[in-house]
Amino acid sequence: IAHDGKKAQMVSFIMHHLDFFGRENLLIYATGTTGKHVEEAGVKVNKLLSGPLGGDAQIAQMVCLKELDMVIFFRDPLGMHPHEPDVQMLMRLCDVHEVPLATNPSTAKLLIQNLV
Ligand code: PGA
Repeated sequence: IAHDGKKAQMVSFIMHHLDFFGRENLLIYATGTTGKHVEEAGVKVNKLLSGPLGGDAQIAQMVCLKELDMVIFFRDPLGMHPHEPDVQMLMRLCDVHEVPLATNPSTAKLLIQNLV
């Protein structure tokens, strides 16, 4: 998931770590618009709804069902978002279920290094 101001950074992060994100056995889920950008860069993703339409909530459900090994969510800390309640919910549920959550590239890099 990447907020609009962070989508380019997400694509760049993925392209720099293609050894991880390009793996055949890796299933990637993304909110709709983020997923579209990543797909356009040539990486296969399963696209959910766009964030403001419930995509973050869908990811949160997967967190609750223990269907995800980790969540990478590049938030834009300088922007306002109509779906801020969903963003808070997702982060809270990652903590409730102890699902690793990276909200910036430095942390995401540490997480994927540990999942290889
Ligand atoms: P998007 O949603 O990928 O559909 O833009 C991300 C978000 O803003 O939560």
